[in-house]
Amino acid sequence: MHKTILITGGTGFIGSNLCKRLIQDENNKIICIDNNYTGTLDNVRDLLSNPRFRFIEHDVTTALQTDEKIDEIYNLACPASPTAYQGEKAIFTTKTCVLGALNMLELARKNNAKIMQFSTSEVYGEPLVHPQIETYRGNVNPIGIRSCYDEGKRCAESLFFDYNRIYGVKIKVIRIFNTYGPLMAVNDGRVVSNFICQALRGEDLTIYGDGSQTRSFCYVDDSIEASLRMMAADDNFSGPVNIGNPEEFTIKELAELIREKINQNLHIIYKPLPSDDPTQRKPDISLAKKQLGWEPQIKLTEGLDKTIEYFQKKLQK
Ligand code: UDP
Repeated sequence: MHKTILITGGTGFIGSNLCKRLIQDENNKIICIDNNYTGTLDNVRDLLSNPRFRFIEHDVTTALQTDEKIDEIYNLACPASPTAYQGEKAIFTTKTCVLGALNMLELARKNNAKIMQFSTSEVYGEPLVHPQIETYRGNVNPIGIRSCYDEGKRCAESLFFDYNRIYGVKIKVIRIFNTYGPLMAVNDGRVVSNFICQALRGEDLTIYGDGSQTRSFCYVDDSIEASLRMMAADDNFSGPVNIGNPEEFTIKELAELIREKINQNLHIIYKPLPSDDPTQRKPDISLAKKQLGWEPQIKLTEGLDKTIEYFQKKLQK
């Protein structure tokens, strides 16, 4: 069956990986939407000549006018790196999350399309429950520097469930935990790309705080696989469902692992920890295992090798 699939944030890191995966099915036509704030056309350049792929430069904070019948929407549009979503961009981030969700939900409603929200582990804030399970309601600072993203994404989830309850829109909500891999931007600002690019350039690795904070890193192909399974799952299963790799590492362990892989002689330096930086994060993925038959296949060391290879080429350009 032919399908027209709209992907917002389609030139970003996860979005462009998703475009590349979905275009492989000859029945799929992809409409890729992005304002290219953190995304780049370079990420999808190889797809532009494909007649089943169309890029529209568009900001999701305004409604998208299209006469095309849309079957599925993946809503990823939002800067995801703290350095990109905070500060001067904070209000824009909230607008992107909230107005973007509203505009896409309206489009889904008009088209009777299925719509998936790429939510985030940030909805749990500084979690007091570990590992985080979907029923945990989180511990978010509503007035902190991260709240534009955290509360924006929480509000988007709330809009999704209200559109489902009020209008019967078929919704899917996945909560993505830290994800890494090819097509991340060199200047993304998140920890995996920072450490790898620093090490490849022979620079010191910058740990914020003492490096005892933890994260659980999921390779992008695993996250994409989970999102496709979620889209294909029974309409009665809306989530939210955690998508992440439950193997937890301290940031210091990550720095040491990357240093070992690239250059043992590099120094690690310590910088101040940004405020509201979560102390620990690890997904409970029992629900994804049960409902989607999914669990990550790629271990951190293997995923880092692939990511290092990608950045090596990128930095040579
Ligand atoms: N971090 C770090 N050095 C960097 C970038 C990030 O030590 O160069 C830390 C950051 O303070 C956080 C963790 O790594 O504790 C993950 O940060 P990232 O921005 O990748 O994701 P998030 O904080 O959104 O999980």
